[in-house]
Amino acid sequence: MKDIIEIRKDFPLLQKEIGGRRIVYFDNAATTQKPICVIEAVDEVYRSYNANVHRGVHVLSDMVSEAYENAREKIRDFINASKKEEIIFTSGTTASINAVAFSFGERYIKPGDEIIISNLEHHSNIVPWQMMCERKGARLKVIPVTDRGEIIMEKYVKLLTEKTKLVAITQVSNALGTIVPVKEVTALAHQLGIPVLIDGAQGIQHCQVDIQEIGCDFYTFSGHKIYGPAGTGILYGREKYLEEMPPWHGGGDMIKSVSFEKTVYNDLPFKFEAGTPNYPGFIGLGRAIDYIRELGMEDISNREKRLLDYATEKLSGIDRVKIIGNAAEKVSVISFVIEGIHQYDAGMILDKLGIAVRTGNHCAQPLIERLGLEGTIRASLCFYNTEEEIDTLAEGIRKVIRMFY
Ligand code: PLP
Repeated sequence: MKDIIEIRKDFPLLQKEIGGRRIVYFDNAATTQKPICVIEAVDEVYRSYNANVHRGVHVLSDMVSEAYENAREKIRDFINASKKEEIIFTSGTTASINAVAFSFGERYIKPGDEIIISNLEHHSNIVPWQMMCERKGARLKVIPVTDRGEIIMEKYVKLLTEKTKLVAITQVSNALGTIVPVKEVTALAHQLGIPVLIDGAQGIQHCQVDIQEIGCDFYTFSGHKIYGPAGTGILYGREKYLEEMPPWHGGGDMIKSVSFEKTVYNDLPFKFEAGTPNYPGFIGLGRAIDYIRELGMEDISNREKRLLDYATEKLSGIDRVKIIGNAAEKVSVISFVIEGIHQYDAGMILDKLGIAVRTGNHCAQPLIERLGLEGTIRASLCFYNTEEEIDTLAEGIRKVIRMFY
């Protein structure tokens, strides 16, 4: 892997000073910073070949359409999906999950059917299913978690019945960093012929993802969490389901022909891509994937594991700090509370010290409540973070504690 000093030079924002301090950015689970090559790739679209995709016979439209479809191919290859037709462009994980919840719901769900999620989920993998259940008269079942923040497999197995029509589960908890054994979860559901959706919003940042190895039927993620532009999302769907599911948005590009009597929908993946997409964003996302691959996903994961171990050791050595979420398999996300100090107060003081962390329920309110908390402080690290930054965080936490005690 490239030297960390060189890596950090790739990210303009990491060089910036705010209030005379170089920012320590530990909010990578919310969004990641962008390497210069991604910023330039988006800039280049607008400067050199901007036009709408798939719409014109002119040279600019051809150029941008080709770059856009190349990005689709890069994404297919990155997650090892077998077909380009199974890669649908959306605006983010939330949009991807909503698309499945609507469209799968319309096609397959009847009153009395059940959808299984887990207690680890982000609101984006809870609310769309609740909405679907309400629309279709179905019921939501929830896999419970242990105090360590791991799903309880025996309970999951018991929830799987002939009523279950879909399992929708996160690959990695954004609030605690727990890695869910998604391959096992998928295999158990498949034994009963039940399809599985994996929310990969966090998993894609830290884990080498191979759709075919996981075996899932849907996989969703957001470009902005893997160093790409905001407003780009991916929905991978197994062709046999996507063929049968109705489109969830109607409009331009998702049709073959339109008359007032009848509209014929386009082939995959366009059937699910109505309207002008964020084409500069997807071209930028393709560049982000090149960048990640140049660094090497395995090296990225290994570096992040070392950072996680270092941070866990540093933070657990501080009196009054309690780490929340101790799953055996974790990514570089550390949630913690400081005894007697509200997480917002701690977060605000850390911010004044130039350290960006997230505080609150992390859009996972049912999980935080299950753990008997109001919220946590979350430091989410990625490969461009350093041991020195972790030292700065540990020192910052000590300062916070000294201010209150
Ligand atoms: N799912 C998980 C596990 C997440 O962490 C997030 C964002 O933090 C989302 C879904 C929603 O992603 P987005 O806001 O990019 O749609």
